Amino acid sequence: MCESEEILNAIKATLNLKSENNNIGLHEPYFKNTNALRYLEDCIDYGWVSSSGKWVSKFEDEICKYTGSRYAVAVTNGTVGLRLGLHCVGVKAGDEVITSPFTFVATANAISHLGAYPHFVDIDQKNLSLSSEFLSKRLRKIAYVKKGKVFNSETGRRISAIVPVHVFGMPADLFEIKKISDEWGLPIVEDAAEALGSRHFVDNKVFIHSGLIGDIGVISFNGNKLITTGGGGILITNNKELADKCKHFSTTAKKQHRWEFDHDEIGWNDRMPNINAALGLAQLEVIGERIHKKNLLLKKYQKFFSKLNGVEVIVDKSKNINNYWLINIRFLNEDNKKTEIFKNELLEKCYRQGIMIRPAWKLLHTLEIYKNHPKSILKIAENEFSRILSLPSSPQLLNDK
Ligand SMILES: *Cc1c(COP(=O)(O)O)cnc(C)c1O
Repeated sequence: MCESEEILNAIKATLNLKSENNNIGLHEPYFKNTNALRYLEDCIDYGWVSSSGKWVSKFEDEICKYTGSRYAVAVTNGTVGLRLGLHCVGVKAGDEVITSPFTFVATANAISHLGAYPHFVDIDQKNLSLSSEFLSKRLRKIAYVKKGKVFNSETGRRISAIVPVHVFGMPADLFEIKKISDEWGLPIVEDAAEALGSRHFVDNKVFIHSGLIGDIGVISFNGNKLITTGGGGILITNNKELADKCKHFSTTAKKQHRWEFDHDEIGWNDRMPNINAALGLAQLEVIGERIHKKNLLLKKYQKFFSKLNGVEVIVDKSKNINNYWLINIRFLNEDNKKTEIFKNELLEKCYRQGIMIRPAWKLLHTLEIYKNHPKSILKIAENEFSRILSLPSSPQLLNDK
């Protein structure tokens, strides 16, 4: 195993940092060389800053073009998008929704916000996302079908959806997961919060954007994502009925009419404001360049880490396109206790020099709020969690300083 000092030096060499006094975040917003100011000025000049206006529909149209989705519904954030999507595929209070424990807490919270229970199933070591193999095994072990609905025989609750997460932007095994969901008749809401620009390989030059194999995909535009609208999210889907339903529930379920306020459901106020959409569009125009830079940054990290023992930069070995939202390293030491000590030493060193690195999110089934929720054996998630650290990954880190 190399020394923690050597890892710190590999990070600094990659990022061209000469001083011991830095201010490097994990993933930071960036608006230089974009039309952001011009578009924001337009919103302010015309007074259209709130949740309707031309930038919202423009942003939705451009997201459709970029992802290849037929429909898009822009919302106030990714968590809200997940909750809205889950509601529209039919998740109800008291249900269980299968997801992975290796994700940001928002995935499980969105399920809980509907009064449903996240049910955790282990991940695939290859892509750190929900494993199709464990999903299939878990359903065969605990689930049964009655009158077309799936139930958990251990809890008696209905299982009503699956939420795979494209962790760090790495496409999950969606084609396999889809087969299982079809077999059981369970809808899929993909947490593609981190996966704008990530695509699944189909064949030859054909790719499908993350979020579009399941019924609905949700992308986040939080401040630390690949592009940001300040706060925001978007649902993408090829299903018109679902898109209409999402839009309806996101706008207080108001029936379209010029002056009448008539609402046929208890809806939400989930729409993305115009000013946020304008900001997002300005970055969407340069996203190709950003993803290109991320791939260069990955290669540079690989170059400097290849000389070190006991640690590897995590690369996606599939034929999928990965946006590398966060670039990660994995420690290869089998002794998790030693790795833990080493990780903390490295974290200390990096923070002292103003370089932000980060362990993965605490596994959700180990949080007090989710510790009593249904789960499979989560050995791979536990093992991976203890060995992974995220590195500074902003594309602009490669700009000339
Ligand atoms: C960011 C994120 C979310 C939530 O998105 P917000 O826009 O911050 O609400 C959900 N899931 C994952 C995996 C995320 O990374």
